[in-house]
Amino acid sequence: MIFEVLSVFPQVFEPYLSESILGRAWQRSLFEFVAHDLRTWTHDRHSTVDDAPFGGGQGMLMKCEPIFEAVRDISGQGKKRPHVIFFSPCGRRYSEKDAERLSSFDRILFVCGRYEGIDERAYALADEIVSVGDYVLTGGELAALVVIDSVVRLLPGVLGDDRSAKDESFSQGLLEYAQYTRPATFQGERVPEVLLSGDHGAVSAWRRRSSIERTARWRPDLLEGAELSEDEWSLVHETLGQRDCEATDV
Ligand code: SAM
Repeated sequence: MIFEVLSVFPQVFEPYLSESILGRAWQRSLFEFVAHDLRTWTHDRHSTVDDAPFGGGQGMLMKCEPIFEAVRDISGQGKKRPHVIFFSPCGRRYSEKDAERLSSFDRILFVCGRYEGIDERAYALADEIVSVGDYVLTGGELAALVVIDSVVRLLPGVLGDDRSAKDESFSQGLLEYAQYTRPATFQGERVPEVLLSGDHGAVSAWRRRSSIERTARWRPDLLEGAELSEDEWSLVHETLGQRDCEATDV
């Protein structure tokens, strides 16, 4: 899988992508990465990529000509046209389901905005427009890293054990269960005994329950349409009841 980015700060990606799990995956060619400098597609002495917005207002906007030229040139290189993603806080909110969907593409080109954003006409080049959350970043580079990171870890061979991505939050529509490591007792607080029991069936049942409780407590919105047994729905209602009581107590 090839990730390409179009950015006015193409140097910011490599330090992050070179570390840890992503770094090892990159070294092992489990994915490829190319950063394109948008200024390559400018034709003036100052390599201008931005201009003042028509109608007035604060800040500068990214011009559409270099973006059109760059996306056309980059798309013409290589065997396959890339899937083109633009970033904007106005885009559709990104989720784990999108990471799963994007992991099946061969080639993705991310267009990173800066300044006050991008001339609206450039979005005609986008196959999709993505927001990484309801907040405003100074640029799309972090958003691109968020998407690349979340997709790469789903690629075969990247995580030590391919099952670990399937166990994680959101992959089954629930948050992940609570986890503990040594020491078994810390500041008087003991980890749940069942996790020390060696009984895999009991551990698995405890984890399912923990997953449901945590989802009901922290992200009940995820439970809409969840496939749970009658007992599990009772657990959800019990947890929601406790949560509401705790909120009133505060
Ligand atoms: N004026 C824009 C607005 O209010 O919607 C914000 C522009 S932002 C300062 C500059 C660039 O950062 C955007 O063009 C986009 O590429 C990126 N960006 C900022 N927040 C983002 C978010 N939540 N998700 C994805 N990209 C974001």
